[in-house]
Amino acid sequence: MATPISPSVDHVRAIAEAAHQTFASNPEGANASYIPYLAQVPSDLFGIAVAFADGTIIEVGDTDYEFAIESLSKVFTLALVIEQIGPEVLREKVGADPTGLPFNSVLALELHDGKPLSPLVNAGAISTASLVQGRDAEDRWRQILDVQSQFAGRPLVLSLEVNQSEQTTNFHNRGIAWILHSAETIYSDPMAACDIYTRGCSTLITARDLAIMGATLANGGINPLTQTRVVQAANVPYILAEMAIEGLYTASGDWLYSVGLPSKSSVSGGIVTVVPGKLAIGAFSPPLDEAGNSVRGQLAAAYISQQLGYNVFTPTA
Ligand code: GLU
Repeated sequence: MATPISPSVDHVRAIAEAAHQTFASNPEGANASYIPYLAQVPSDLFGIAVAFADGTIIEVGDTDYEFAIESLSKVFTLALVIEQIGPEVLREKVGADPTGLPFNSVLALELHDGKPLSPLVNAGAISTASLVQGRDAEDRWRQILDVQSQFAGRPLVLSLEVNQSEQTTNFHNRGIAWILHSAETIYSDPMAACDIYTRGCSTLITARDLAIMGATLANGGINPLTQTRVVQAANVPYILAEMAIEGLYTASGDWLYSVGLPSKSSVSGGIVTVVPGKLAIGAFSPPLDEAGNSVRGQLAAAYISQQLGYNVFTPTA
């Protein structure tokens, strides 16, 4: 395994280009289809961006294509809420454990007295959205959009098309919100929380944005492009820990075992991987595997991090 302590930009670019070339032709997986919008996104799109903690960015392939943020939004709403209520209250009210079950599991709630366990599954993310400290649902939504934009370093926008596609098909999530309500593990009106969670999933980002969002975490909570502090440095490890616990759906344990880095994926085909103190990899490719993770995105993130010798369980200088 190659282990340069501070790899040159050219070295990382060569590795990212090799990853793109190697995996672009991988035919495996299929677009998510339970949200109609996602089914019609071209499956051959493939972008890889690497953002360093100093703001340097490498881009290969379709890094400017705007895709729905989906589950990646859960990380940034979590960051907002940890800032507002603290990591211990977040753990008590939502949790910091793997569910071992699919991201939209009702069974997981039934097994744990209605406690979601993770802010990165749907139940936990809806509960977390309800914990955004605001005057009303619109104020909470404004804060969710604002924190996503701060992580990206540019104003993100809600896609009305994605939101319409989600809001007209999200009956399962609404059911989850009512189960949370009956268990007293949601902290605002359940339908309002589900609505702002769904809107939070319906903004558009690029692979480049995603890399910068991850690099903000890699950089201790300061966006390396805007130099704005988005999260306190002390809160970043809790966010990364939640990603390590439940970032790749039911494959989270396998990912940590084989790649050893905190990541988060989405049903739209995005995946962000964070190397604390160094860089973040943002990849996008719509076809998903059985667990719901981008096939090419995982291959690229694993290849790049392994070529660079990055793994949080491996000692580095
Ligand atoms: N909006 C999607 C849902 O709630 C996000 C799922 C995901 O990306 O994991 O089902």
